[in-house]
Amino acid sequence: MVTKAHAKINLSLDIIGKMPDGYHEVRMVMQTISLCDIAEVCESNVAERDRIHVVMKNSNIPADESNLCHKAARAFLDETDSCGKTTLMGLDITITKNIPEAAGLAGGSTDAAAVLYLANELLRTKDVDSALDTERLLALAKSVGADVPFCLLEGTGLCEGIGEKITRLSAIPDCSILIAKVKEGMSTATIYNEYDALDSPYHPDVDRQVQAVLSGDIREIAAYSGNTLFEVTNSHIPAVGELVDIIRKTKALGAQMSGSGPSVFGIFTSEKDAEDAADAVRERFPEAFTYVGCPCDSNREL
Ligand code: ATP
Repeated sequence: MVTKAHAKINLSLDIIGKMPDGYHEVRMVMQTISLCDIAEVCESNVAERDRIHVVMKNSNIPADESNLCHKAARAFLDETDSCGKTTLMGLDITITKNIPEAAGLAGGSTDAAAVLYLANELLRTKDVDSALDTERLLALAKSVGADVPFCLLEGTGLCEGIGEKITRLSAIPDCSILIAKVKEGMSTATIYNEYDALDSPYHPDVDRQVQAVLSGDIREIAAYSGNTLFEVTNSHIPAVGELVDIIRKTKALGAQMSGSGPSVFGIFTSEKDAEDAADAVRERFPEAFTYVGCPCDSNREL
């Protein structure tokens, strides 16, 4: 079975507190975009319980137990095994990577979500009663990572808690989205730690952006895009702020950093304007990754 594993952008990202366990409490408007990895999953035909085999194509990311696909497969097999119903013998997983790694685009989370989705679909074809319902699949997704539940559902959502409490929102209007990313990176953990030391971080108006999404106003959606982590990431990787400035000087309706960066996105009414902005980015940063695509609505039935 095959599915596209789509990347996400954070139209907005705010941090509103810390959980007792140290996790940050977030409020984010997340949007699935057309940039995607391809995930293929089949039941392994070796009679060896819980055999999990991951192949990463077009990527140097280790395919071992540290891979989020491996963790998702393990979580799925453990869960379905404990039900005492029909289970899968094992899982052979192949990911063809197109989403840049550690970029703030949820590349790992979306692969993990795709594995959970496909494994459940495989189980459904074997025995419809053994497949996990949406609630259990989402709980499994949360156990793999905070962004995995949203990646499983796809579409547009307000994500709260650590990101797993999802309120689905209406699809945003058709538009073009440019993703631009320079090579430098920084660990997400470091960015969150440094964020904690800020005296008065900027907080985007997430409620206003949710209103903009609900009213389907792409100009307002772009205008209220904000990211509380931008200041920290930009202080280490100034190219992030430069990218935002370059894109804002084009015909973009808005530009912002996604997640903890370093990816930056721009929102445009036309593909041509987005391609022109990509040219402007490559003129300044010839080595930058650029991609022009569009937002995607959810088309998974869980
Ligand atoms: P997020 O936006 O959810 O914070 P990200 O886009 O910043 O995620 P990922 O691409 O998910 O970051 O990668 C984060 C780390 O996860 C990387 O260091 C990578 O080695 C590891 N990882 C494990 N499995 C995968 C996978 N299947 N694809 C990408 N990264 C993976």
